[in-house]
Amino acid sequence: MDKSHYRVVVIGSGPAGLTAALYAARAELAPLVIDGMQPGGQLTITTEVENYPGFPEGILGPELMTRMRAQAERFGVTTIFDAVSGVDLASRPFQVTTAEHGAVTADALILATGASARLLGLPAEKELMGYGVSACATCDGFFFKDKAIVVVGGGDTAMEEATFLTRFASKVTVVHRRGELRASRIMQERARANPKIAFEWNSAVVEIVGSREHGVSAVVLEDTRSHARRNLPAQGVFMAIGHSPNTELLGGQLEVDAAGYVVTKPDSTRTSVEGVFACGDVQDHVYRQAVTAAGSGCMAAIEAERWLAEHGA
Ligand code: NDP
Repeated sequence: MDKSHYRVVVIGSGPAGLTAALYAARAELAPLVIDGMQPGGQLTITTEVENYPGFPEGILGPELMTRMRAQAERFGVTTIFDAVSGVDLASRPFQVTTAEHGAVTADALILATGASARLLGLPAEKELMGYGVSACATCDGFFFKDKAIVVVGGGDTAMEEATFLTRFASKVTVVHRRGELRASRIMQERARANPKIAFEWNSAVVEIVGSREHGVSAVVLEDTRSHARRNLPAQGVFMAIGHSPNTELLGGQLEVDAAGYVVTKPDSTRTSVEGVFACGDVQDHVYRQAVTAAGSGCMAAIEAERWLAEHGA
């Protein structure tokens, strides 16, 4: 880093962070973006993005993020490839400590650290992410027309994803580790009433069979009581075992909700600490789309700019 103090520091480089940086740069705030562990965020682990406005032919997730970065850099955004190990929000300017580039201070902070889909921890899961394995039905469901799909999980997300995927799939099998769903009654009833949805109870996915070249062909299920294993043919596997907002670096200094998401004021990106703004999936477990993340990134930059002007910083 060529300096240690910035008017605006953006933590995270997905659609929310890069859009916030673009707007802050165009407001002549010369922001610093600290990329985080997964530069470009969750879109870099998807393939085709067909629902981002302005790309009628679709665009690859990593390509979209490369373009967002180039657009931000064109207006003078500084980016560093590093992870934030901690922040000190107790006094202003805020202090942000990175793993490798030391510490910087910021008059205003924009948190755009996103959320990570929880995964089972199978080796094939990461290898085949975007090649038959997905954690986002809205993003990838379209690629599984007339295919058999497995959805892993028993919560509201699993029910919602399974129901949505029946628009495309020939059959959706919900694999749940217990004999009872966690999902709300209404979501359960909707899924149970859908003739395309079947359930595999007390079952864990212990292996995903496939390759990047040929995609997924089956999952191996293990009965959680008898431990008997069997193959279930499927061309798509959707993980719906929850998301975790990436808030560890905050060390409890900002208000978060029961699920760990950063709480923002109504219709705003303002957080419980003045001068700290949050945008994208770290504060949104409802929409979780690239376009909504980008929209809230824009809001955060505008609010930060106004806040800085009001506070003479
Ligand atoms: P939840 O934490 O509610 O559910 C996660 C599900 O995944 C549970 O059934 C859990 O099993 C299962 N699971 C977790 N870890 C594993 C694992 N390692 N292996 C196998 N299964 C696992 O997460 P959701 O994403 O479903 O929901 C998050 C929040 O968002 C909830 O508050 C939900 O109500 C809300 N939401 C609301 C929606 C709506 O109202 N339209 C839509 C989507 C989400 P187990 O049950 O055994 O713990």
